[in-house]
Amino acid sequence: MQITTTRMKLELLHTFRIARSADDYRESVIVRLEYGEQSGLGEAAPMSRYGQTGPSAQEALKKLDTELLEPASHINDVLERASEALGKERAALAAIDIALHDILGKRLGVPLYSIFGLNPKHTPVTSFTIGIDEPDVIEEKVLEANDFPILKVKMGLENDHVIMERIRKVTDRPVRVDANEGWSKEEALEKIEWLASQNVEFVEQPLAADDPDACRWLAERSPLPLFADESVLGLSDIPGLRGAFHGINIKLTKCGGVREALRMIHTTRACGMMVMLGCTVESSIGITAAAHLSPLVDYADLDGNVLVSNDPAVGARTDQGKLVLPQGSGLGVTLRDGPVRDALTERQNR
Ligand code: MG
Repeated sequence: MQITTTRMKLELLHTFRIARSADDYRESVIVRLEYGEQSGLGEAAPMSRYGQTGPSAQEALKKLDTELLEPASHINDVLERASEALGKERAALAAIDIALHDILGKRLGVPLYSIFGLNPKHTPVTSFTIGIDEPDVIEEKVLEANDFPILKVKMGLENDHVIMERIRKVTDRPVRVDANEGWSKEEALEKIEWLASQNVEFVEQPLAADDPDACRWLAERSPLPLFADESVLGLSDIPGLRGAFHGINIKLTKCGGVREALRMIHTTRACGMMVMLGCTVESSIGITAAAHLSPLVDYADLDGNVLVSNDPAVGARTDQGKLVLPQGSGLGVTLRDGPVRDALTERQNR
């Protein structure tokens, strides 16, 4: 068993500004696992909110004892061991999980969605994310997103009203709002009451994750459904969020991959909440892995690969916003010619 990793900068088409940060690029670690003749691709998209960086994710993967990953067919056991070894580096765990599922699909000769018995026609429409920006740039971004029938708009700073008004000047498409913990509770209620009149479908993480009582207070009064993102990392967080949120945003890189995401999807349903599959800025490797699970969910926000100019891979795509799954075995992802492909196949060519 061999792990090869390469760290890359995903260059953003526009500076990506949310309530707590602004970035021109995000680092990602692309991973290739090789078991004999079979190989699988995975991706760790580290999240600074949880103390992860590109170097920390890559270092964790390099340090991982590859014997823990044998045999590849016992994915459950392998991931239990890898999870323990990787600790808080959940993005690194997701990379291993995704690569193992890629290999499984290739061994069976079927796309990943088939392994879960899912119908690829039942994929949802993904939203397209508009980061916080100057009003003129917001208008420009909305026009660039013309192929996407649903927009996700980042808020959480003083200019929320201006942003929404400028969007409504150029489009009446439905909008989902993500405040990334940027509001206080009274401010949140006031803004959500106004947003409810602006064809907004729901609001993601209006309040700080460390104040569950305020989340409950708001959920009792909000005219729009509220989704948890920063408030939920993994499976065990979900039952405690009943009554504080109406839905859960599940991200592979946040929770540790396909296996954990599946458990979270079913647990969320059992708790009577809605399910959304989300992402961070990531390549088509991470996005495609999530897209294979998307027939199971109510909402998708899987556009991280569309926001970057140097996606190293080709996989799931969109048609008028609807996710289209690749037909190849496993993830069905291929690497484009370029530095990532060279770095991951170098050893083989030597
Ligand atoms: Mg979010």
